[in-house]
Amino acid sequence: MDYESFFRQQIGTLRQDGRYRVFADLERHAGAFPRATYRDAGGVERPVTVWCSNDYLGMGQNPVVLEAMHAALDECGAGAGGTRNISGTNHYHVLLERELADLHGKEAALLFTSGYISNEATLSTLGKILPGCVILSDALNHNSMITGIRNSGAEKHIFRHNDPAHLHELLSQIDPARPKLVAFESVYSMDGDIAPIHDLCDVADRHGAMTYLDEVHAVGMYGERGAGVAERDGAMDRLTIIEGTLGKAFGVMGGYVTGSAALIDCVRSFAPGFIFTTSLAPVLAAGALASIRHLKRSQIERARHQERAATLKEMMRKAGLPVMPSVSHIVPVMVGDAHRCKRASDELLERHGVYVQPINYPTVPRGTERLRFTPSPLHDDAMMAHLVEAMLDVWSRLDLRKLAA
Ligand SMILES: *Cc1c(COP(=O)(O)O)cnc(C)c1O
Repeated sequence: MDYESFFRQQIGTLRQDGRYRVFADLERHAGAFPRATYRDAGGVERPVTVWCSNDYLGMGQNPVVLEAMHAALDECGAGAGGTRNISGTNHYHVLLERELADLHGKEAALLFTSGYISNEATLSTLGKILPGCVILSDALNHNSMITGIRNSGAEKHIFRHNDPAHLHELLSQIDPARPKLVAFESVYSMDGDIAPIHDLCDVADRHGAMTYLDEVHAVGMYGERGAGVAERDGAMDRLTIIEGTLGKAFGVMGGYVTGSAALIDCVRSFAPGFIFTTSLAPVLAAGALASIRHLKRSQIERARHQERAATLKEMMRKAGLPVMPSVSHIVPVMVGDAHRCKRASDELLERHGVYVQPINYPTVPRGTERLRFTPSPLHDDAMMAHLVEAMLDVWSRLDLRKLAA
């Protein structure tokens, strides 16, 4: 076989579909977020404003976080030096797991090197060790959950997105004696909608099913202490497992699950994705710990974040830009075509110094390609006015669809 031509052909197909991914070469500047330096393919530098970061609250440059990380680096050195079982459990890991368990009101927490791995490892392990387990998965669940469920080998059923009635229908057809797990997210990050957590838990309870909630796009941002939408809705104690990331609103890196002591001990003891890998660098654990502690007390970031998102949505709507309905901090704007979505993103960057990545299939369904803006507490009114002006220019250049007047 001509391997090279096979690989080139695969990539050629992606390019034809407008789905070939080009990474923006960015240098973020601590103290100046959301400003960054962009280098184009020829190495030419230019200043840009980043509009699509998942560092939702700017905690990645918060002085409290940076100080903690500097201190941990000087104290502990660079890496963890091993897997958790073999010399790689640093005291910061222990403190961080306690902090996370407390945050979500659970007995225990377990750290992973990313949110992706926390979902994959936990779901694949639970589905494997529970005899005859059936997993019910929301239709729009993240790839990390889908992969974990698939790797578990458990029987899987997909319920319509955020639809408790359909979940009930599916659960009713399953032998009541079998173990069952319902997996869903709180904030869905591509549309910005939010799950009816209580309603889904009601259905799960009726059928004796465990519940697994991915709060990746909500931790730090919702609830009195930043534990997520389940905290905001008074539903934390109804969830068997709450999963989150340290890489988005907490501004650092890593992932985790929280739950009962026995359940977490099982994942700790049986999940290959936890066991056979070097643990998080102590610097990262220390930074995440400082970030969580700060956001447990401070409301300023959360309040300003919500205000900024609402303001941007309103400004776009007034300008006739097709902002999608979103009840969260996510501001998606529909383009509806992969090539034009990429063009719009390119033109915003080249002409206006606005960086927003196009979101194409398979992240979203074909025909719903979009730009996804994530305004933070650090995006001020002037940046927003500039953004809307830039979008109007690009919308008219490319003759993109606007809201009906
Ligand atoms: C980003 C994301 C993850 C993975 O988290 P990382 O820490 O980035 O690996 C998991 N679930 C959802 C819904 C996500 O969007």
